[in-house]
Amino acid sequence: MVNGVEIQRAYTPISSIDSKGHFELLLKVYEHGLMSQYIKCWRQEDYVAWRGPFGGFLYKPNKYGELLMLCSGTGIAPMLPILTHVTDDEDDETFLTLVICARDFQNVYMKNFLKEQSKYWNVRIFFVLSQERSLENLPLSYKGNSKLGRIDSLFLAKVLETCRRRPYVLICGSVPFTEDMTHMLKHLGHKDTSIFCF
Ligand SMILES: Cc1cc2nc3c(=O)[nH]c(=O)nc-3n(C[C@H](O)[C@H](O)[C@H](O)COP(=O)(O)OP(=O)(O)OC[C@H]3O[C@@H](n4cnc5c(N)ncnc54)[C@H](O)[C@@H]3O)c2cc1C
Repeated sequence: MVNGVEIQRAYTPISSIDSKGHFELLLKVYEHGLMSQYIKCWRQEDYVAWRGPFGGFLYKPNKYGELLMLCSGTGIAPMLPILTHVTDDEDDETFLTLVICARDFQNVYMKNFLKEQSKYWNVRIFFVLSQERSLENLPLSYKGNSKLGRIDSLFLAKVLETCRRRPYVLICGSVPFTEDMTHMLKHLGHKDTSIFCF
């Protein structure tokens, strides 16, 4: 209840799919957001009501040759359990390409986790930074796989070309981001049936 009004919002567990008895979340707190005001006040031992999980994407090992994950901001959240599900399973040979969009390097979430994941033979990660001034300011390990600006058709075409197999694409971000990505993919000849939007 916030200011006498009952509100609900959707959040995505980022813990491993096998976690039992607990789940973790990646929460962005918006200055003027209703739920954000409530989250800001959470203290240890507070009681918070949750229901779920809900969702339509059920991952099965080796079902897809390659997954291309296009995400922006906290849209990275649903990608994380899938990523670990693949890399934790030595029998899962799915290739994973993650394209992470953020305002700048500072706003890339879960950097340490991503660094660890990028060491796996079947994982590659790109960063697209819309407001970063220059790649020169980035740590050495990010320079080669980062791009300034936004995802455009040219960049997306290059990513698709360099996928080892025709990927199944997962998209998560704001509504305009999801629409832009879907539009570009279709323009590049990618089929609707190979795209899932969270
Ligand atoms: C399937 C799904 C999964 C999601 N997973 C996650 C997740 O894992 N992590 C996560 O952080 N979020 C996630 N979200 C987003 C989340 O559900 C909320 O939308 C988000 O936390 C904002 O909620 P809020 O109540 O704080 O903001 P809201 O009150 O809904 O406001 C949203 C935006 O509008 C702005 N705003 C609000 N009031 C005003 C005003 N009067 N004037 C101008 N601007 C205003 C706020 O600053 C904010 O930017 C997910 C959403 C969906 C649909």
